[in-house]
Amino acid sequence: MRPVEPATLTGWLTRLHLTAIRDQLDSLLDEAARQDLSLRETLAFLCEREIARRDERRIEMAGKIAHFPCARDLSGFDFAAQPSIDARQIRELAACRWVAHGEALLLLGPPGVGKTHLAIGLGRAAIGAGYSVLFVSAPALVAGLAKAHAEGRLDERLGFYAKPKLLIVDELGYLPFEPDAAHLFFQLVSRRYERGSLLLTSNRSVGEWDKVFGDPVVTTAILDRLLHHSQVVTIRGDSYRLREKRRAGLLGGQAAPAA
Ligand code: ADP
Ligand code: MG
Repeated sequence: MRPVEPATLTGWLTRLHLTAIRDQLDSLLDEAARQDLSLRETLAFLCEREIARRDERRIEMAGKIAHFPCARDLSGFDFAAQPSIDARQIRELAACRWVAHGEALLLLGPPGVGKTHLAIGLGRAAIGAGYSVLFVSAPALVAGLAKAHAEGRLDERLGFYAKPKLLIVDELGYLPFEPDAAHLFFQLVSRRYERGSLLLTSNRSVGEWDKVFGDPVVTTAILDRLLHHSQVVTIRGDSYRLREKRRAGLLGGQAAPAA
């Protein structure tokens, strides 16, 4: 083969969209030489780098599309601080078989116990496993559906929320639903039923959801679909935020004993 100018090779790698190899070509080839890799091993090594870069990009992009409200992941969750949670169950959930099967997950518990943190962490795990994820708060979801309904675009909006493989609906129950909203939510749950997974977090137990939805018939219909294939994680205990403040001595009279 005739000698190839570095600029020509760079152009070819660009055309083939092998940008990780292109950008690190010299250092990758040096590394291959240092490790005394065969030609076949060198090719595999270059492919590995290209794939790793693509995975990173995909995960970064999917994270943006998911609209997580803050940066959290499961590795930052202190299981020792939350003994009511079975760490093994969460690790099992992070393997995302429930997402593959389109099942539902309910994270229930009082404010501050880590529901949103776990929801984001599991959402990130789902992205890592290759699934599309969207995070939305229950009030924003319902407001979006109600607005679309009023503008005659409900079907389109339901389609938008039905699309991701995992839809995370956070903070169900902090605000009671309008009667119409419960029905809109029901339509969404039906649309996603057995197709995509729903992860719901709520500060109310399932028995109180008729108060949240304001309509026992619609609540039964929602729960019927939601609980059919589902797991429920109930978290008990103190708010993590208040615990930290208490430790720092900011909350008078309730100081936790020094560890
Ligand atoms: P919830 O959604 O149940 O109200 P959050 O997930 O918002 O609670 O948790 C409140 C804050 O405390 C967040 O900043 C969260 O990251 C943190 N937090 C809660 N539980 C834990 C935990 N066990 N380990 C680490 N951080 C936690
Ligand atoms: Mg929360």
